[in-house]
Amino acid sequence: MHKREFIKYGGLLAGAMIAGNSKIFSKGTEIKSNPVNLKGATMKLKFLPYDLQLKHVFTISSNSRTSTPVVLTEIEYDGVKGYGEASMPPYLGESHETALKFLAQVNLAQFKDPFLLEDILLYVDKITPGNYAAKASVDIALHDLSGKLIGKPWYQLWGLDPAKTPNTSFTIGIDTPEVVRQKVTEAAPYKVLKVKLGSAGDKEMINTIRTVSDKPICVDVNQGWKDKNYALEMANWLKDKNVVFIEQPMPKKQTDDIGWLTQNSPLPIIADEAMQTIEDLMNIKGLYSGVNIKLMKCGGMNAAYKIAQMALAMNMKVMIGCMTETSCAISAAAQLSPLAKWADLDGNLLITNDYYDGVTVMDGKIILNDRPGIGIKEKIKVW
Ligand SMILES: [Mg+2]
Repeated sequence: MHKREFIKYGGLLAGAMIAGNSKIFSKGTEIKSNPVNLKGATMKLKFLPYDLQLKHVFTISSNSRTSTPVVLTEIEYDGVKGYGEASMPPYLGESHETALKFLAQVNLAQFKDPFLLEDILLYVDKITPGNYAAKASVDIALHDLSGKLIGKPWYQLWGLDPAKTPNTSFTIGIDTPEVVRQKVTEAAPYKVLKVKLGSAGDKEMINTIRTVSDKPICVDVNQGWKDKNYALEMANWLKDKNVVFIEQPMPKKQTDDIGWLTQNSPLPIIADEAMQTIEDLMNIKGLYSGVNIKLMKCGGMNAAYKIAQMALAMNMKVMIGCMTETSCAISAAAQLSPLAKWADLDGNLLITNDYYDGVTVMDGKIILNDRPGIGIKEKIKVW
């Protein structure tokens, strides 16, 4: 499978280079060499810490917060700039400090060819264990850069149909009934709601929403339920409330209970906390109906694409999710959203200081643009 994937991937890139950059050809059809090497340019990585301000206090079953630390990255090569981002919600263990320390160790100048994504990202991955958000910020900037050099958006390089993007859900955090109703009203343009459950007031939360909206709801429990029988009872109750799926209902270590729940639940059970890297995908096979892929968990677009393809091959459903992020990381994730049955790409919609303009949402559906790379431009001057 690895070999087949490599051939397919390499073929796509080669095709894209032929389509997008005639400068790689000498006279006739013979390819002499890649002009990228001839230019002698080097990749320069820059990074800046920022805090994203949330529109609402955000509460999940384990904590509450009003801002999220991010690090914005830029890789410049021969005058072309690719942008990336690391988002680090506190519960995942990364911070400004860890990301900046990691990025200071990244030496891209050793690579003369920015199209060697597999080699460069393998090097980045091996610098330290963990640091997945920091790694994703390099991966995203590199994809943006290479896409811009080729002149194509990444969904095209992957051969994905932009018409097949899913609707994105809009997340409603745990709150008082009054605030929940207000948030649901704000979510009017979205066709699917996502609700954080996992507290004593779960049924009240759903019932409150149902007083103002009958839209389909995706439920995320963030490991909040501990008993499998209670989880099944809730799954049956939620099914009758027009809920679409349940994300991470129980702690990821309760593997037997989760496997049992998936077997018996009338709703699909989706892995989030239990599914970080491609190795985790092997471990959760048979335990969940699908996976929530996030660039910040797995290390970026390259890994996310591979996980999505493998999950689909394993007959699992694919969901693309996000952290609190600007339109940079959201637009990067959206490039692979045509592979997903569901998307939860609303992180940029929940902040007041988005630095980039990128993918948009129309009638609840993700709209990819035709800008090259990850499809963004600066909205507020960052660099
Ligand atoms: Mg989740």
